[in-house]
Amino acid sequence: MDHQPRTQNEKLEVKTTTCYMCACRCGIRVHLRDGEVRYIDGNPDHPLNQGVICAKGSSGIMKQYSPARLTRPLLRKAGTERGEARFEPISWDVAFDMLEKRLGHLRATDPKRFALFTGRDQMQALTGLFAKQFGTPNYAAHGGFCSANMAAGMIYTIGGSFWEFGGPDLDNARLFFMIGTAEDHHSNPLKVALSKFKRAGGRFIAINPVRTGYAAIADEWIPIRPGTDGALFMALIRELIEHDAYDRAFVERFTNAGELVDLREDSDTFGLFVRDAGLPEVNALYPQNHLWWDTRSNRAVPHHAPGAQPALDGRYVLEDGTSVAPSFTLLREQVAHCTPQWAEAITGIAAETIARLAREMATVAREQRLVLPVRWTDSWGQAHDTVEGAPVAFHAMRGLAAHSNGFQTVRALAVLMSLLGTIDRPGGFRHKAPYPRAAPPSAKPPSDPASIKPNTPLATGPLGWPAQPADLFVHEDGSPARIDKAFSWEYPLAVHGLMHSVITNAWRGDPYPIDTLLIFMANMAWNSSMNPGQVREMLVDKREDGEYKIPFLVVCDAFESEMIAFADLILPDTTYLERHDVMSVLDRPISEFDGPVDSVRVPVVPPAGECKPFQEVLIELASRLKFPAFTTADGQRKFRDYPDFVINFQTAPNSGTGFLIGWRGKDGTKAVVGEPNPKQWEQYANNNCVYRHKLPESLQYMRNCNGDYMQWAVDNGMRKYGVPIVIQLYSEAMQTFRLAAQGKTKGRQPPDHLRARIARYFDPLPFWYPPLERDVTDLDRYPLAAITQRPMAMYHSWDSQNAWLRQIHGENHLFVNPATAASEGIEDGGWIYVESPWGKVRCRARYSEAVEPGTVWTWNAIGKAAGAWNLDPAAGESQRGFLLNHVITDELPSDTRAGERMSNSDPITGQAGWYDVRVRIYRAEADAATTLPQFAPMQPLPGTATVLQRVQAYFAGKGEFAARLARAAQAGGARQASDK
Ligand code: SF4
Repeated sequence: MDHQPRTQNEKLEVKTTTCYMCACRCGIRVHLRDGEVRYIDGNPDHPLNQGVICAKGSSGIMKQYSPARLTRPLLRKAGTERGEARFEPISWDVAFDMLEKRLGHLRATDPKRFALFTGRDQMQALTGLFAKQFGTPNYAAHGGFCSANMAAGMIYTIGGSFWEFGGPDLDNARLFFMIGTAEDHHSNPLKVALSKFKRAGGRFIAINPVRTGYAAIADEWIPIRPGTDGALFMALIRELIEHDAYDRAFVERFTNAGELVDLREDSDTFGLFVRDAGLPEVNALYPQNHLWWDTRSNRAVPHHAPGAQPALDGRYVLEDGTSVAPSFTLLREQVAHCTPQWAEAITGIAAETIARLAREMATVAREQRLVLPVRWTDSWGQAHDTVEGAPVAFHAMRGLAAHSNGFQTVRALAVLMSLLGTIDRPGGFRHKAPYPRAAPPSAKPPSDPASIKPNTPLATGPLGWPAQPADLFVHEDGSPARIDKAFSWEYPLAVHGLMHSVITNAWRGDPYPIDTLLIFMANMAWNSSMNPGQVREMLVDKREDGEYKIPFLVVCDAFESEMIAFADLILPDTTYLERHDVMSVLDRPISEFDGPVDSVRVPVVPPAGECKPFQEVLIELASRLKFPAFTTADGQRKFRDYPDFVINFQTAPNSGTGFLIGWRGKDGTKAVVGEPNPKQWEQYANNNCVYRHKLPESLQYMRNCNGDYMQWAVDNGMRKYGVPIVIQLYSEAMQTFRLAAQGKTKGRQPPDHLRARIARYFDPLPFWYPPLERDVTDLDRYPLAAITQRPMAMYHSWDSQNAWLRQIHGENHLFVNPATAASEGIEDGGWIYVESPWGKVRCRARYSEAVEPGTVWTWNAIGKAAGAWNLDPAAGESQRGFLLNHVITDELPSDTRAGERMSNSDPITGQAGWYDVRVRIYRAEADAATTLPQFAPMQPLPGTATVLQRVQAYFAGKGEFAARLARAAQAGGARQASDK
């Protein structure tokens, strides 16, 4: 878009950076007049969005000038109580001195009493490093309450997952299944890909309880009951196996289907892969001495022995008398009962539809096969002249993950995709660097509570990927070592932590009390907690001595969220237009299928008020507290600021691997690996803030077992080991936990009350079980599933202060199938109660044919607490908006010990079971006029905007029109300006 200066003195500029109105990281152009943001559009030269921008992205201007911005560090006023939101401004020096003293004391005495938890930030490589250097294990980002099951279930199986880790190759796919995905997940990139896919004649099937967003343009919508997707996948797996419709060649060579499993039930190796002690193990984490049963020689041979043909079915006896079976045999047996009729009763999808879907997948996979003339060599030295693909692609996300059966459901999906032979092949699922990782990755969490020592960094990062009980982080008696109980016997594979349990556990002092909780960018007093009403009470609850049960609460955010009211100290963050950020290969880059891509944000405007990027806060604190990685040998500060840190940090001395892969080397001529380049930021800024490294074609496919890719990945810091990543149809890691629970192995044992739970859920093969909440819910009284999704025009709660986006979503309804509503006498638009066993909300109903009759749903996080986000207390968000979280519980009665409670989470990963709640709906009082519950209005904070500034903000800044309005306002004309 061309702009012409309107006056000689007017300065027009266009700067490129990366959007952060949602987590997709599109390239944008920010148009400035006299240094003020006037317009934002998509960057056509950016590989991710190719110029496309969405409603959110183009509304960034209203985020920048939002009246809800925090602009000064604030301290809770002496003599006031938490929750009253009465603060006084302080300087950054005072804030840092306060934090240095308090955190320095904790680090020198008991580091675990400091906890750092963050929301949907994009700086986890730094925040994780900060926690590690502090020496506290009590760190995680939002993944545990988001889609940890999607990451864990896929990565434990195929070494990669969806979205930032990999995705559907829609350029080549012919049949596409989207399952359990929010209406605009992976927003612009997926929209662009879907539109091309549809124009090219691809067939798109959406499987979801709700048909909105992407699903609205699907060729076929298949409604499914929430929490039952795993049963559908199990039936599809069965159909493919029963009809011999799977990709046998792929399954034989690139999965562990042919590897022999020990069937001796009385043995401590029961259910583990048989190993040949005479063969080299190669790698203790990923032993390479497993066996196949060779059908040609009719004997056991090392897996992938040249010329061998592995048996997939049958049972065999080794020379030493060990009875064994290929793991595929066990998979076949596991799914034998999962007929389409069995799945119909669970999912609500007709058996003939399920059978037809399986046929359709198999037919497209076989009859529309893609063959690319790409030569490559696999990890066992076999050269291949082509890369073949079955053009059947999938995309799935939180609809599968946010259930207490999500891990095994996602495992089932990964197995289904693998049986179709679609892993890192054209037309199917493709990895994005640095994925694939090992399955599971080699990084482990701390395992010894004694490793938490004063003034000492942790030996490993706080998070990791357990592969056996020895990797758990528990005390000798089996009790948890982390505040969120991640990596304990309650949630062994909690690879993203359990942020949703932190406040409850800290409040209860279970497993121990903490002193300081630092929350960044997470609205735990509202939409990020499963039980916000109770969390708000916990945050203000006190001990007998008058001290708060969580003594010091620091909140860093850019906006006046509900959580802010409960802070003792508020640190004002910048917006994404005011700071440096990296979308790094050390964290979550924006890689394409053909190679690694990373990107940055650079400031396009100076910070408002006294705002400071959270990264700068961490660098300052790390320097003051003298963390080894942030100080020189003589104790001096190592990094001037965050940009300096990004340029100079290396994963190990002289490793050449740092945050960014572009323009490395002293003169910027190296790629991926190289010495730090002092001009790296400038070179990103001059190149659309993005760096793309395309791999040779021979390294672009089959990367789980592509020998040349493995070597490249090891040489370039993407992988630690070059061993092949054989797809784990059968998970030996899971079986090690089951063996311990059954008392068959020595070493770490679960507490007795958890043995049956571990033994049940740690099945090495996927299976479906009902979400745990159903066991404690009267399903006759609460017959409906209740779920949420975020809308296209608003990313969770991020934009309820955004004047443009509020016009699209300023209030919300509960969407109900008309037949369901009619049976309760509920009118379209009528006030109703939504009640679960845990609480109730009052809201309005809206008829929708686009939801299956057994489900009701609403938008996530449109409803607000009165006055929060600097909205007028009478604003629609609080008076006509509502938050479904009030009917969700974060804890369930323990299924293992009477009288105790456990997190409402997946028993394997600790992923929050958001979508497991059951409700009933009924008409509210005839005179109902507002939603319930309501909370006392939050007061505006020092440094947030006045009514006049709100009017200016509405017109986006100090421009001419706004100035005219300002003059009018001074004359009293703006007194009527409402919040909307
Ligand atoms: S999808 Fe929209 S909001 Fe998200 S990063 Fe891209 S432009 Fe920004």
